Amino acid sequence: MLNQELLDILACPQCKGPVRPTAKQDGLICDRCRLLYEIRDGIPIMLIDEAKPLPPEPEPR
Ligand SMILES: [Zn+2]
Repeated sequence: MLNQELLDILACPQCKGPVRPTAKQDGLICDRCRLLYEIRDGIPIMLIDEAKPLPPEPEPR
C-alpha cells in the first residue's frame, strides 16, 4: 500500500508532474508522459529508463 505522503513527494522525473498509482497499486502513472513507473518491493522506480510506455486508454464514458 502506498501512503499519501510518499505520493505527494513523488513526481515524474521527465516532466516533474504528479503521478498517480495504478488500480493495483503496483506502479505509478504519469498521465502527461503516458509512462508507467513500476513499484518493486514497495519502492517506486522513478527512472525514465525503467519506465514503460502506456498503451492509449479509451476515454471513460
Ligand atoms: Zn511525466
